[in-house]
Formats: sequence, structure tokens, C-alpha cells
Amino acid sequence: MSIEVTNVTKKYGDFYALDDVSVSLPTGQLTALLGPSGGGKSTLLRIIAGLDTADSGTVAIEGTNATRLPPQKRNVGFVFQHYAVFKHMTVAKNVAFGLEIRKTPKAEVRRRVDELLELVHLSQFADRLPSQLSGGQRQRMALARALAVEPTVLLLDEPFGALDAKVRKELREWLRRLHDEVHVTTVFVTHDQEEAMEVADEIVVINQGRVEQVGSPDELYDEPASDFVMGFLGEVTRLGPVRLRPHDVEVGVTPGRAGAIPGTITRLLRVGFEVRLQVELDRELGGGADPVSVVLSRSHARSLDLELGSKVWLTAAVGAVTVPAMVAV
Ligand code: ADP
Ligand code: MG
Repeated sequence: MSIEVTNVTKKYGDFYALDDVSVSLPTGQLTALLGPSGGGKSTLLRIIAGLDTADSGTVAIEGTNATRLPPQKRNVGFVFQHYAVFKHMTVAKNVAFGLEIRKTPKAEVRRRVDELLELVHLSQFADRLPSQLSGGQRQRMALARALAVEPTVLLLDEPFGALDAKVRKELREWLRRLHDEVHVTTVFVTHDQEEAMEVADEIVVINQGRVEQVGSPDELYDEPASDFVMGFLGEVTRLGPVRLRPHDVEVGVTPGRAGAIPGTITRLLRVGFEVRLQVELDRELGGGADPVSVVLSRSHARSLDLELGSKVWLTAAVGAVTVPAMVAV
């Protein structure tokens, strides 16, 4: 295990930012800390980095108890959303900075900077100033700078958070490829479930200062441990006694399977290759009269001849991921 966080608690006044958090992150893995804003992700990352101290609990990095080590002795590299670049220094100088303060020989610095700029595809921009780069390029420079000193652990706090959607998507694919090349143990904070699912080997879901679940993207999606995780990782709807994903609701145009729940289509929306339905149930099934959301493919909807006002019968598809719906009392 590369990073072992054990029973870490952090309070601000009476408020628990982290409440008895334990996680182990294997060497070489890319782990996402995922959760809603205010859940404690950055606090945990800062405690791993040594930028903040826990009230209790321990942090070990590669077998060394780092709980009381200052950040510069932990051999971690960081990248934050708003990165503090040296504005008056060229891209190459920014990347070289950490090596130069460590008095690395000049030739070695040059070799390493060239190698890193190539890695982040910025070789042709070596002599530009940061202000002459796009936002995405600047974050790549920030990553090169963090990697320059060969950290044991790379910590990224919403590194793409300030960029627009298209650039974010490019950068997350790029980060995945970079990680496959470099294999440095990486912890990546995000509140964006899609980003976490696409990039991470493993996801730690954090909410209200606690770890809700740890698992691979597939495990979390297919076997959510709680209602919270299920809802956070994708759209959820309610069909009678269970909650499930809208694409796991099966639509019939006859009563069909036993237990099928009758209703009427009250909304029908075509979005790309999907059709999204809202189905008003004929009778309330214990708590809440919210319509059921259903997603199916366009060709499937066409084959069933679905229209606004069509009568349908709903069941949970075979193999659907379901969790019990909380019944209102
Ligand atoms: P996240 O990164 O998941 O959005 P944070 O770790 O930044 O969440 O914050 C967790 C909680 O701790 C938030 O409610 C935040 O307001 C609180 N918090 C963080 N830092 C401080 C601080 N220095 N003083 C008081 N409260 C803080
Ligand atoms: Mg944060």
C-alpha cells in the first residue's frame, strides 16, 4: 500500500470535516476522491499532503509514518484548480523550478525538462510565458512541474475544475494516458462522477466527512452500497418498492409479466439516440406520486409504438441494480 490513512478525524469547531476516515491506496494506482462539494475531499487531500494536520489518526506514505512530517519531506507533488504559476518565467523554467531549488546539475535539469514537456505535449511551448498558454495547456504545465521532482505521490485537487467542458474531457483522457505511462500513485479529487468513472482505477466516495464506499467504477455503479452512492453515480428513479436506474425500467404495452405496474406516458422526449419517458402510475404505490423516469433506445421505443398518452406496464429489468426505496411513514 502506498498511502494508508487510518482513523483520521478533522474538526473545525464542532463541525466534523472528516469523521474517522480510513482508506488504503495501492502503489501505482489512480484513485478518485469523489463526492459532493463540502464533503471533505480537499481536507483529506491536504492532510495526505501535509498542508493540514488531522486532530487524530495517522497517514503513512510508502510504509513511513508521515503524520508529523512537513509537506516537503513527504515527496508529494500537487496540482490545484487554480494553480500558482510563476508568471514571469517561461514554461520550461516553471517546470525546472523544483529541480533547480534542489540544486540538480544543469544538464540533468535540461534533460528532465525536455522529457517532461514531451510527456505533456508542450515541447513546442517551452519558451512561452504561462499567459500565452490556454487553460488546458497551463494545467498540463502544472502537472509537468509537479512530476519534475519525481514524487512518490501525485495529488490533484479538481485540477480541471476551472476549464470548460470540452477541454476537461480532453484532459481527463490525457491524464489517464499519462498515468498509464508514468504509473505514479495518484489521488485525484473531483465532484464530477463522470470524470471519476472515466479516469480512476478505484473511487473513494466521500460524503459528509465519511467514506461511503470504495470500489472500482463498475463496482460502484453496479453494486452501490447505499442510496447515496447509487444516486450520486447516476440517475435514479423509483418504481414502487425499489429505486433503480431509468434504463433498467422495462416497458411493456400489455400487462405481460406478473407484478407489472400500469401507468400512462405523460412526457416523451427524444435526446439523440435515446427516448426519455415520464410515466404517471395508475395508483400510488406507497409514498410519493412522482412519475417514473424511463430511458430506452429510439429503436426500442419505435418498436413499441410509444406515444404521449400510451398506456404502459413497467417492471424492473432482469438483472437491474435496485435498492429498496425508503418508504415514507
Ligand atoms: P470538499 O473538498 O469535498 O468540497 P472540503 O474538504 O473543502 O470539502 O471541506 C469540508 C468541510 O469543511 C466544508 O463544510 C468546509 O466548509 C469545511 N472547512 C474546510 N476548511 C475549513 C476551514 N479552514 N475552516 C472551517 N471550515 C472548513
Ligand atoms: Mg474541494
